[in-house]
Amino acid sequence: MAKILVTGGAGYIGSHMAEMLGEVGHKVVVLDNLKSGKANAVLSAELIVADLANQAYLDAVFAQYKFDAVMHFAGLIQVGESVIYPDKYYQNNVAAGLNLLNVVKKFAVKNFIFSSTAAVYGEPKYVPIDTKHALFPVNPYGKSKLMFEQILADYGNAFGLRSICLRYFNAAGADPLARIGENHNPETHLIPLVLRAACSEDGSIKVFGNDYNTSDGSCVRDYIHVVDLCSAHLLALDALLSGAKSNVYNLGNGKGYTVFEVIKAAEKVTGRSIKFEIHGRRAGDPAVLVADAERTIKELNWQPQYPDLETIIKHAWQWEKKRFANE
Ligand code: UDP
Repeated sequence: MAKILVTGGAGYIGSHMAEMLGEVGHKVVVLDNLKSGKANAVLSAELIVADLANQAYLDAVFAQYKFDAVMHFAGLIQVGESVIYPDKYYQNNVAAGLNLLNVVKKFAVKNFIFSSTAAVYGEPKYVPIDTKHALFPVNPYGKSKLMFEQILADYGNAFGLRSICLRYFNAAGADPLARIGENHNPETHLIPLVLRAACSEDGSIKVFGNDYNTSDGSCVRDYIHVVDLCSAHLLALDALLSGAKSNVYNLGNGKGYTVFEVIKAAEKVTGRSIKFEIHGRRAGDPAVLVADAERTIKELNWQPQYPDLETIIKHAWQWEKKRFANE
């Protein structure tokens, strides 16, 4: 049993992680400012409502719990918003993260897992993308995540902090028991929006671009089940706790689906027809993003449990129906 701090543990991925950590017997403390997270997404962990900007409070929390490791999920995640408000992104994803790191250093916590993103690669030079790919983020969101990765590497060299950065491709799906799931406001992600369109009589999904150089003209993405993301974090944690050195891994299934394929799969899962409208390309969207996660599979012994798109959508749909009924 280890004592783990999960920042952003009331958010989409963090809440699944906190629950999984508890299930395998760790003591979990969630720290979340609840600006986008939801208190009721924290199923069994202890929840502390606080902001990473409040360093004195962080000091008190670290002094009380003596954490073995920190998993850092808290952060802003919208690419489009990051272009309009880069200040918010650098403040939240870099400056607030630095506050956390300074407390981590002060209390000599040596193990750190960071939610990074495929956005650190920018426009891909080749696919599937492995971790040797050049790092050239094209928006403040991706830049802020890369900056934090670089800060972690420097803290590793100077202070002995060992970290694993996990670069997510497209996180999707929900708890298979539909207790928790994706609940962003505003929602910008494809799968929940497609499912919301399926829920409403006159709803439709906007397809951002049908003129890409792909099989049907729409963008290709690598969707990865949130439970599989979390199981990789758990393996990364085990590795760090057993003394592994710092590393960076991709998390994706290595298989891409177009936007139209996602809509078709959602029609099959929901049994409903889903209307769509073709819109222009969304700024900053690469045509194809697919992970090469072979090294993650090999080195962390990671085995995704739900790689199949229909299962990912099925779990998201179970959650979406429940969320919709409770609204
Ligand atoms: N997308 C779309 N309509 C939407 C939302 C997304 O066509 O309403 C497309 C988007 O252009 C991208 C893919 O779906 O190619 C996945 O987008 P999402 O925002 O879910 O994740 P991202 O790839 O930006 O991380």
